[in-house]
Amino acid sequence: MSLSAQYDPKNIFAKILGGDIPSARVYEDDRVLGFMDAFPQSRGHTLVIPKVQACNLFDIAPDDLQNLMVQTQTIARAVRDALAPDGIRIAQFNGEPAGQTVFHIHFHIIPVWEDENERPHAAGKMADINELKDIAAQIKAKL
Ligand code: 5GP
Repeated sequence: MSLSAQYDPKNIFAKILGGDIPSARVYEDDRVLGFMDAFPQSRGHTLVIPKVQACNLFDIAPDDLQNLMVQTQTIARAVRDALAPDGIRIAQFNGEPAGQTVFHIHFHIIPVWEDENERPHAAGKMADINELKDIAAQIKAKL
């Protein structure tokens, strides 16, 4: 997918927003959704997406981006408070060559522990939905 690609309303995150695919939700309001990554790079790997249709950083309106970023900070604070990692990486990829695999803009919140190896990006075995819901509940409790 190039940086100028058209938004596909059938992408996985659009289906999650529409409730067609289950997700372990952490936070939702009328503008954003926070939920657990199904192929987590670490325990607590959370995604934050806007409810507007935008493939990447270049097609989202500044006001929606601002709100998305602030909500990412709020949710990242809850991840920090719930899981006490040694560090937290915030990531956002634009275009396939840059590592983007789902073309609905999102921020990754990836907790990092010094003594734990991170799993690869968007790969491996899908996590158990009940385990993800348990972690989501811990994060939600800190919001
Ligand atoms: P990107 O590669 O576009 O930056 O990130 C997409 C993320 O979505 C990846 O980290 C991947 O693990 C995650 N992902 C892919 N499919 C699903 C899914 O069906 N449900 C959830 N919750 N996450 C997904």
